[in-house]
Amino acid sequence: MLTPVVDDDGAPFWEYAAQGELRIQACAEPGCGELRFPPRPCCPHCHSFDSEWRRMSGKGRVWSYVVPHPPLLPDYAAQAPYNVIVVELADAPRIRLVGNLVSGPDAALNSVAQERIRIGAKVQVVFTDGAGLPRWVLERP
Ligand code: ZN
Repeated sequence: MLTPVVDDDGAPFWEYAAQGELRIQACAEPGCGELRFPPRPCCPHCHSFDSEWRRMSGKGRVWSYVVPHPPLLPDYAAQAPYNVIVVELADAPRIRLVGNLVSGPDAALNSVAQERIRIGAKVQVVFTDGAGLPRWVLERP
């Protein structure tokens, strides 16, 4: 199981995820408000250092995906072939998150047959129990 590598800028993302909320960093400068990902100190649009964490609906669509095959790290080789998807957020189409398409929050990495994965398929975020790792399930399984 992957565990988050937390840095100062990204820590709030993981704190919210542990509570079952997908939040994306946004500029808090009046008149800007641009979302940004990955988290970083400064707004790339207006250069403000003020930021807030805006709650997302958790809906998105599969923008791209791969099915990794060995050679892989030993923990992953045991689960291959599995999928890694890139999700375009419905609330912020320029923001894309990397994750796994699974049949449920704590299901195996290979719990969705790869022939069922389609570019454009609507997905919903779910969070693993305990670790709060965001993963994705099909809106219409
Ligand atoms: Zn800004």
